[in-house]
Amino acid sequence: MRERASVVEGGRPAGRRTVKDVPFVELSGGRVQGVVSSGSDVERVYVSFVESGGGYSCCTNNNRPCGGLRGAPCKHIHELVDEAILQFGAARVAAYLGVADGPPPEDARTLLGGLRGDERKESPGVVFSRFLSYLRYCELQARPGTVLEMGWFAP
Ligand SMILES: [Zn+2]
Repeated sequence: MRERASVVEGGRPAGRRTVKDVPFVELSGGRVQGVVSSGSDVERVYVSFVESGGGYSCCTNNNRPCGGLRGAPCKHIHELVDEAILQFGAARVAAYLGVADGPPPEDARTLLGGLRGDERKESPGVVFSRFLSYLRYCELQARPGTVLEMGWFAP
């Protein structure tokens, strides 16, 4: 009966995610993108992505540059990709980023090491607003029956 439900079950996460450190990660528009908590300041989050081909970006949600970007992806991007691997599985993340050769990479370091890309300057607004609407769905009460709004979620 799954096909008739408005909520289609997605794949199970491949491992246990650390939502506190990386509250939001998705594969969207050819990118692994999401929101990463600052290790030092609970008030601050970073909006990061890495795209197919290796281009990457990281800045705060207020569009301040990340100090960890020194010609290579910072620790936030590594955390983001590690969480994406837990959530979606290494093979799927690697294929999504266009790294299809060989065995699936074990972790973000291996995966990012195989990419060659430059830093992209982009406003964090799009990814951050996707995060905020995702949070809104997290706050919807679970109740029996169908929640029509949830039908918009792609599995
Ligand atoms: Zn960063």
